[in-house]
Parts: sequence; structure tokens; C-alpha cells
Amino acid sequence: MKLAKIIVDIPLMQTDKPFTYEVPSKWENLIQVGMRVHVPFGRSNRLLQGFVVGLSDDLGNLENLKPISDLLDFEPVLNSEQLLLADQMRHRVFSYKISLLKAMLPSLLNSKYDKEFKPLPSLSDEERQTYFTKDKPLLASDLDDEIAVKMAELVAKQKVEQIYVAKDKQTIKTQKCYRVNLEILESLEIAKRAKKRLEMSLWLQANPESGALKDLQHQYSRDVIAYFESSGALEVFEVEVSRSDAYFDEVGESPFLELNDQQEEVVATIVSEIGHAQKPFLLEGVTGSGKTEVYLHIIEQVLKKGKTAIVLVPEISLTPQMTNRFIARFGKQVAIMHSGLSDGEKFDEWKKIKRGEAKVVVGARSAIFAPLENIGAIIIDEEHEASYKQESNPRYHARDVALLRADYHRAVLVLGSATPSIESRARASRDVYYFLQLTKRANPNAKIPQVTLLDFRDYLGQQEASNFTPPLLDAIANRLEKKEQVVLMLNRRGFSSFVMCRDCGFVDGCPNCDISLTLHMDTRSMNCHYCGFQKDIPRTCPNCQSPSIRYYGTGTQKAFDELSDIFPQARILRMDVDTTRKKGAHQKILDTFGNGGADILLGTQMIAKGLDFPNVTLVGVLNADTSLNLPDFRSSERTFQLLTQVAGRAGRADKPGQVYIQTYNPEHYAIQLAKSQDYEAFYNYEMSIRRQLGYPPYYFTVGLTLSHSSEEVAIKKAYEVMGQLRQGLSEQVKLLGPTPKPIARTHNLYHYQILVKYRFEDHLEETLNAILDWTQETENKAVRLTIDHEPQNMM
Ligand code: ADP
Ligand code: ZN
Ligand code: ZN
Repeated sequence: MKLAKIIVDIPLMQTDKPFTYEVPSKWENLIQVGMRVHVPFGRSNRLLQGFVVGLSDDLGNLENLKPISDLLDFEPVLNSEQLLLADQMRHRVFSYKISLLKAMLPSLLNSKYDKEFKPLPSLSDEERQTYFTKDKPLLASDLDDEIAVKMAELVAKQKVEQIYVAKDKQTIKTQKCYRVNLEILESLEIAKRAKKRLEMSLWLQANPESGALKDLQHQYSRDVIAYFESSGALEVFEVEVSRSDAYFDEVGESPFLELNDQQEEVVATIVSEIGHAQKPFLLEGVTGSGKTEVYLHIIEQVLKKGKTAIVLVPEISLTPQMTNRFIARFGKQVAIMHSGLSDGEKFDEWKKIKRGEAKVVVGARSAIFAPLENIGAIIIDEEHEASYKQESNPRYHARDVALLRADYHRAVLVLGSATPSIESRARASRDVYYFLQLTKRANPNAKIPQVTLLDFRDYLGQQEASNFTPPLLDAIANRLEKKEQVVLMLNRRGFSSFVMCRDCGFVDGCPNCDISLTLHMDTRSMNCHYCGFQKDIPRTCPNCQSPSIRYYGTGTQKAFDELSDIFPQARILRMDVDTTRKKGAHQKILDTFGNGGADILLGTQMIAKGLDFPNVTLVGVLNADTSLNLPDFRSSERTFQLLTQVAGRAGRADKPGQVYIQTYNPEHYAIQLAKSQDYEAFYNYEMSIRRQLGYPPYYFTVGLTLSHSSEEVAIKKAYEVMGQLRQGLSEQVKLLGPTPKPIARTHNLYHYQILVKYRFEDHLEETLNAILDWTQETENKAVRLTIDHEPQNMM
């Protein structure tokens, strides 16, 4: 008898190790490590999804083992590298292994459960039959045992060409196609007066290749097609299609650009290491230096060596403008993965990769788990972006996962940015990373733009509009006259629109969270962005009943109104959370602007990244300061990065660019150095501050947050955890807190945080796992604990 070790789908400490199950004999030859199963679990024997992580022969010393109920796959969905990766990640990511394994798969492959916690059924009996006989997508658990065993034999003999791993039929999208049987077609005797039949017969004889049924349907009526189908001259069948194929067909090819000397050298250095790389490359390249072109050339070499590549870009930069550059060079070898895809589309892309059809994966954070084999390069663009860290369980950083995968494949790992994270830049200084620089813009006529600071205090009483100083207005007028384009950024971190009473100052807040409710004009409601609480928009102040309750927008609305008043002739586009809530809206705005359909693009941070519009010669930052004063030690770094990024949108082609930054803090070093766009100077200064204050990269950090509905309990438990940390960790470790989080209450829970700072600590993993264990004790069950290694967001 065979035994399987299985990690089951309950995120608990007790279940973080594999359980042993018996493999029913019919599956003995089919089951493999990395497959999904359903297994009975616990006293109630409820069915749970699990992953096979090991197989062994029964030595007869184990008793009362439960058998596996269902085998869900014909092929492993997780390969050995991914299983190893989960083990490695578990040392630094303090969530359970099952969460790590599930994070590596498209959500369609993770079982959903009904109210009684039973896995939802997939196919009816009738559907099983058709699905099998028509050689369509199928699922092992949907087959009769006998058929399953037969399939297993076929799979083993590689007789079945396409094996599908699918949870239900919705997972697969199919398209109807036709095949022509010429012999039958030519033997048909069609009456002369049946003009359409004759016409179609001739057409089919001239075009006997198979095709999409819908193309035939455009030309001929249902009846005519049915005639050929019933006579056997036409066979209609279904094939599986990828939901993204149509999109790929629209993108034209584009040639590789000839690299300049700097780019050439960088590409040569990196390419020489493919397949035996020892450490990552930090590529520090000024905005517009042609980093993307460098990535494309590296990937070209990777493919030539028969290897594959992953490119990570921040979600917000994953625009068609960006992805098309990859599709235009590598066509259907590219798979795109981003959160805008439906679950089905994500699954399609995953399958393309799994089957080896896609060799270049371009995607946001989770694309780092793409099931590619034989990886030659992993590229992380804008490597400093905080969005590479997942802010919910499992709290992994894509850069850390990339390091592990690159190490496994000896692949080159390229971390690219105009403004690298201080941590990465420091590693380059210590030779942990190779350090490469691109110091010039790629277009020889493009210069780094001139930046001017405008101190709001110099224009007190002179401003005709609150958001704009006179020099900025002059500059805008000048571009409008010259028919050049303008990008204006309003720097807002708390990007919500809210409702405030003008009489008493009452702001309508969430009853469960310490945060104001956000006005959603599309649903005409007030929503909480943390817990989802929703209510109608009040007509009078809930506090003083005054009717002067007013809507305060993201600030972009007001700036937009001011701008429209001053420049009535200007065509202005507004881009913020309100105008981009609908799917595709973001792209539509960018397309309009790119096609010259507007003069001014006014938006929040979301306009800062990646835009490459040659006609933009003026960038204005309306307020540089809001992100400076946040209670987070990275606030200067984030401000500097943001200002440098947005400044980089100007003057990217032949016309010189100019940048105006309006501020109340012109002497602050982050603003001063953004003015000179001197990343290296910023890095050196920021390092001295980090050293003084004992922050990363001089220390590693772990953030622990304890949450409870009673503030008293939250504090008490936080102190208990403090005690455990003190006991478990050595004396050099610094412990800060517990303190309330800057947003102290959400979801009706009070949050207290502790920050651990350490340089070297042997007992870290053990102590933190013990604290995870502690949360499983009965009296701590109501306490919510998150452990965040290297937290990116201190709020
Ligand atoms: P980055 O990602 O470093 O900001 P991009 O890769 O977007 O820069 O390149 C900026 C612009 O320069 C793009 O329009 C790109 O087509 C162009 N470019 C890049 N490399 C070259 C080159 N070798 N020759 C000419 N133009 C180039
Ligand atoms: Zn009021
Ligand atoms: Zn809330």
C-alpha cells in the first residue's frame, strides 16, 4: 500500500505539517507529489483540499489511516521547485505553509467550500460523460473509478496529448470550430436553385482548411451551415481557447532598438551570467535611460538559450503601453498576469505557462510564482515599489521570492529602478549585489528635465487659485500656447473623498474603524475602505442637523475646477480613484492623453509611473509635502522617489522638459535632492539618518500587530507577546512598543503594534513560531496576530 503526505487546507499551527493518508490502490500509479486531493479531516471527517507533498510505501506500522477521497489532478499542479520554495519561504514568512502553497496557484484551482464546509461539486453525471467522451477538459474526480484508472494508464504511456487540470467546466473557455470533409462535400448533389448552398459548397472547396465556426456564421445562415453539418461535409467541434489570444493578435510586431553604449555594456554583463549567476544585479538607471529596452534584449538572449523569463512590474504600471512592448517583440510567447484579469483568464495564462507555451511572463507581484521551468532571467522593474510586498497573508516580498527562484535556476536577477530602495542600494555597496548604472537618457536628444521649487509662502495673497502659484500658471499657459502637453500631480496619500459639515466640522466616520467614510458617487453611498461598511449619503449633518453638509473630493476635483476656470479653452483629463473605478477607465484616460486628445493630465500618484509621452514638456507637482509628514520612517524615501518619478515624465523626447514642484518645505533634503534629481546624494544622506535612528538597512525589522475588539485585551495581549519576545530573543534585539497603530481601530478591532529590530538573531524564527503557537491557545483565540517580516507600511 502507498501512503501520501498531505498538507491540508486549514491555516493552523497543528496542520502546518503534513498528515499521512492512505492512497486507494486505483490511484497508486497515478498519484504524484504536487497534485491536489480531497481528504477527510478531523473527527467530523469533513472534506478538505490538500496538496501531496510526499509519497512512500506503507511499512505496515501505521494504523487507522484514512484514505484519500479524491484525486483532483492528472498532472502535478505544483512542481518540486515550488514545493521547495514554500519550505524556504516559511523561514521568513510567518503564515502557514498551506497559505504559501495556495498563493502559488490561480484561485480557480483552490477549492471553495459550501456553508457546511464541503468542497463544492464540479460536474453532473451527464456532464462527466460528455466531458470525457468528447475529449474535453476533465477532472480526475469527475470520472468513474474505472475510467480514471484507464486515463492514468494513458497518461503514463503519454498517449493523451492534452491533459487538463481543471476544477470545473467554467474554468475552460472553448470555441466552436469546423473541419471540412472534402470527399463528402464533393459527392453532395445540390440542386441548382439552392443558390446559397452552392455558393457555400464552392467556398468550402476553395477554403478547405479548418476555421472558427463564427467566421462561417458571418457569411452563411444557420440553415445553410446545418445542411452541410447534417450531411457530414462539415464537422463542428470545440477547442479550448485562451481568453487572451484575441488581444495578442491586435498587437503588431516591433523591431529591437539598437542599444547605446551604456545599454550595450549592461546587457552584455548581465547576459554573460545567465545560467550560472551568483548574485543579483541592481540596475540604477535614470528615468528614460531605456531600462525596458535593456530588459527586452536580455530576454531575447534568454530565449535564444532555450530558457524562460519573468518580468515583474508594479500593478499600476501594467498598462497596455507597457505590456505591448513585450508582446510586440515576443508575441504569443508572452503571458500577462495582472489583477484586472478574471479568474478564468488568470487560469488560462497559468496553463499557457504550465504547458510551456508561454516563455515570458509579465505580471504584477504574484507572477513571481509563475510555473515556468528553466528560468534564465527574473527582472523586477521599479524594484523599490512597496506594492511588491503583499499586505495580507502570506506577507511575502516578491523580491525575496525572486532571490530564491533565481538561486534555484542560477538565473540572472535584475532589480531595476531610477530610485532603488535604500536596502537594495546598500546591498550593492556591500557587493551583495552587482551594481550597474545607466546615467543618460536613451534618446540622445532628451535631457534630464530642469526642476524648480516654488515655495507657497512666497506667494501668500497672490494666488488666484489655491492649488496653483503664479509661475506654475504662467508655465501652463505657455505650454497651452505651444500645443505641448502638461502633467499635473496632486500628491495625496489619504486618497479618499469624504463628507464634512461646514457648520460643526463633523466628518462622517465608520462606526467600526477610525477612518472617515469614502463617498462613492457611482453607487451613491458612503463606504468604509477597511471593513466594507456602507450607508446612504446623509442629507443633513448627523451631528447638528445642519443642511450645509458638503462633499470634499480627492482634491483633484477642486484643482480641476480651478484649472477649468482659469483655462476655459484647455482640454483637461482627471485621473484619480473616482475617475478610474470602472474597469478600463484608467487606460482610456491614458490613451486619450497619448493620442493628443487632451492638453492637461491632472491626477494623483497614479500618473507618476511609466508614462512615456513625448509631447509632455511640463510637469507640475501641486503639493510635494503631504507624503513627507507620515508616521513612517520611509516617508522621505517615498517622497523622493515619487518626485523623481513624476519629474521623469517630462522631456522624454526631443523637446526639453521642465518641472515645477510646489511646496511648504523647500529646505527638506528629500525635496532639495529631488530638485537636483541626485539619487546617489539622497542615498548617502538617508543612510546617515537610518544609521542614527537604527532603521533598515542597518537593522532588520519585524512588525507584530495584535488586534482585539476590546482595547484593554489588545494591550494586555500585546504585553504578553512583548514578554515572550524578551524571553526568546537575545539582548541585542531592540523592541519598540506596544503602541497603537496610526489607524488605531478598524473592523471594530483595536490594533497594537510591536517593532522588533535586530542585526543577527539565532532565535528569531523559533520565537516567532512559538508566538504563532500561542495564538492557538484557547484564551488567545479571539486575538488576531499578524507577523510581518520587513514591514513596508508602518501605518
Ligand atoms: P526607462 O524604463 O528607463 O524609463 P524606457 O525603456 O521607457 O526608459 O525608454 C525611454 C525611451 O527611450 C523610450 O521611448 C524608448 O523607446 C527609448 N529608447 C530606449 N532605448 C533606446 C535606444 N537604444 N535608442 C533609441 N531610443 C531608445
Ligand atoms: Zn454639523
Ligand atoms: Zn470600517
